[in-house]
Amino acid sequence: MIISQDAVVSIHYTLRDNGGKVLDSSSGRDPLQYLHGHGNLIIGMEEGLEGKKTGDEFDLKISPEKGYGEKNDQLVQKVPLTAFGKQEVVPGMQFSTQKGQVVTVTEVGKESVTVDGNHPLAGVELNFEVKVMEIREATPDEVSHGHVHGPNGHHH
Ligand code: ZN
Repeated sequence: MIISQDAVVSIHYTLRDNGGKVLDSSSGRDPLQYLHGHGNLIIGMEEGLEGKKTGDEFDLKISPEKGYGEKNDQLVQKVPLTAFGKQEVVPGMQFSTQKGQVVTVTEVGKESVTVDGNHPLAGVELNFEVKVMEIREATPDEVSHGHVHGPNGHHH
């Protein structure tokens, strides 16, 4: 079968930025399994996979608008260093705010810390190498739930 609405698809992938740096990869892990057509992956990825079949290998270049969105400067904020108490703060650290938003520390000054609430891949062009490992039809349960269930109908 080919990848279409309600297919359960397993893929291996490697994600690089435009400089060729690897940002993420399923290499050495189980393939990523997802239910196609339910918004479980970024739009550009699902569009690129549509119509592909098992064994297909291809490259996908995805713009931010079909990936993790453009960077929103309003989500970049300076907060006083004292807000972190005695905790040591270094760039790259991530925190959850009280609203559940994940922010990343981008700069640590003497008195203030710059935090960025954008997705780390916002504004980044994504270069995927993809290989389709397996395709099967989803069960009615999976379709109604909008996600993949494990081998024993395991529910998560
Ligand atoms: Zn479920």
